[in-house]
Amino acid sequence: MDRSFMAFMNQTKDGPQEPCPTCGCWGLRRYAEPTDPDNEKVICTSRTCPSSPFYRGNQP
Ligand SMILES: [Zn+2]
Repeated sequence: MDRSFMAFMNQTKDGPQEPCPTCGCWGLRRYAEPTDPDNEKVICTSRTCPSSPFYRGNQP
């Protein structure tokens, strides 16, 4: 894990206690943009998950 990932994780809250609908992992977290704190989204934090903002699968 790099520092930006850890910084991001510190801005998230515990997610729903259910597996990610895309990849099946249990890495769901709730996250809201600092500029839009009332608009919480559930995100997946797995780097192997296509729906995750950390997905690296298509990068060289
Ligand atoms: Zn996922």
